[in-house]
Amino acid sequence: MAVGGRKDKVYSKKIKRLRRAILVAVAAACLIPTCICVILAIRYDRLNAKYEQSTADLEWYRQKYGDELSIVLSEGQNGGTVRAAEEDLNAETGGFEQDYAEVDTSGAQNPEDIEGTRYVYLTFDDGPSIYTDEILDILQEFDVKATFFVCGKPDSKYVEAYKRIVEDGHTLGMHSYSHKYSDIYSSKEAFEEDFKKLRIFLYETTGVWANYYRFPGGSSNGVSHVNIKELESFLEDSDVTFYDWNISAKDDKAGNTKESIYANIVDNVPKFKHCIVLMHDAADKRSTVDALPDVIKAIKAMDDTVIVPITDNTLPVQHIK
Ligand SMILES: [Zn+2]
Repeated sequence: MAVGGRKDKVYSKKIKRLRRAILVAVAAACLIPTCICVILAIRYDRLNAKYEQSTADLEWYRQKYGDELSIVLSEGQNGGTVRAAEEDLNAETGGFEQDYAEVDTSGAQNPEDIEGTRYVYLTFDDGPSIYTDEILDILQEFDVKATFFVCGKPDSKYVEAYKRIVEDGHTLGMHSYSHKYSDIYSSKEAFEEDFKKLRIFLYETTGVWANYYRFPGGSSNGVSHVNIKELESFLEDSDVTFYDWNISAKDDKAGNTKESIYANIVDNVPKFKHCIVLMHDAADKRSTVDALPDVIKAIKAMDDTVIVPITDNTLPVQHIK
């Protein structure tokens, strides 16, 4: 009897344990899908809100600029009717002011302190231009991918340039539609409208919904009438990361030459493990195109160094903290 009683106790303990395990399993089986459902519902709601916002933006753009764009695209596809000379375009936008923010490289990381590969990101601002094709040819020749922070140029002759940047596998970033400081930095609303106009223009032209931005003049431009932090939070809400630079070719400075551009880039790359190089793709920047092949050769010859385009994994270099 006593033995049987002990056995019963052991069994009832086992049964209790089993019951508890089953209860826990049932509870988990109910709770986990419930949690997943709640998370998915929240995500769905957020995505839906974004989708509705994008649809509204697209509608706003089509109503406001749709006619202009369809002319540009149809002319571009038919081989292109040049509607404005490069000079006229610059006159229209008030000329592309210089990107003048100076970068303090005194805090450059010591490469000896950091293990691993050096990443070099070549970035071209202000395009497309009469030189975009030549720049793309050079990049292709050296099998290098770069990043283009482009502006909005509603001229059919540039349609193919926007498309080729994407087709060749480069990253398409935004650099404001108008590049007019006096306009885009006059108010938060003006900045937002310019931003939306460019983003949708690029989407309609290339099918890319761009996610990277470079402020004209950099985030430390000092000319914005709006606190740049406000513009940053707008970009963040739009799922956009902005990139400044830590190396400048200084190809927008008077008196620059092929040699000075080469030195400004190649001498500074060894100072960083993570180099975001500012260059320009513009009609008055011939020296940049001339310097590019030697710049690429020199960087490629450096140990443990790769040239890559900006992606979601690229750490941003930002002047304004
Ligand atoms: Zn610029």
